[in-house]
Amino acid sequence: MDPDCTRHYCYLKTRDQIIEKPQFSSAIKTILFDMDGVLVDSISSWRHVHTHFCTNNDASVDAYVRGKISDEEFIRRDVSQWKKNGRLIYKKELVTIFSSVNMMIGARSLIDTLKLYDVRLGIVSAGIDILANKVGNLLDMDFVYANQLETDDYGRLTGEGIVNVPLMRKDVVVDRIAKRFGLLKGEIAAIGNSCFDIPLLRSVGLGIAFHPDDDCISKGADVVVSEKNLENITRVLIPYLNKK
Ligand SMILES: [Mg+2]
Repeated sequence: MDPDCTRHYCYLKTRDQIIEKPQFSSAIKTILFDMDGVLVDSISSWRHVHTHFCTNNDASVDAYVRGKISDEEFIRRDVSQWKKNGRLIYKKELVTIFSSVNMMIGARSLIDTLKLYDVRLGIVSAGIDILANKVGNLLDMDFVYANQLETDDYGRLTGEGIVNVPLMRKDVVVDRIAKRFGLLKGEIAAIGNSCFDIPLLRSVGLGIAFHPDDDCISKGADVVVSEKNLENITRVLIPYLNKK
């Protein structure tokens, strides 16, 4: 992988295994969506919160992609900056902060069309579950995998996270989903927009890069949809779906 095609240190260098691409089945039974930059018009739900607090996580991103800190530590360093009057914020404040995130153009139309077919729809996001669950509910998705923030009995963040989707290892979540629903990985399609979605797109039958954030994800995809409108994904998926 060309390390110059991404703004970060290439995290794929820290991996010791190559993901074997499953054989594509001509019938897609489940479609997995990345959230940030795909279902919502925001680069990162984590960054969205940092922007609100005028903080940033550049140093921890760098340490993380170099494999020096875990997903749990990555979350810990992010959340530790989200304070009011010296104390961590309440989870409900994140609900308010996320209310300014817009849905991606064409999201509703795409999902409404896909609902006419016999296909399961899910979110696989390394973003924050507060936003992922909201998007999942609004779009009537069948399941949501995202990362949680732990709270105390009063709803205040404790600073700890529960990692359900490791940013650099979405392939392990695909394994879990295939097992949960009894699917061959070749029967799954996935849509992502950044280099962190390469393991997601490589571990399913049909990997689609949407409005790519970098060249690496385009190279790692089976199909690239460059226009920033999710409706354009429809024509790629329909030939592989069965009507209800
Ligand atoms: Mg993304």
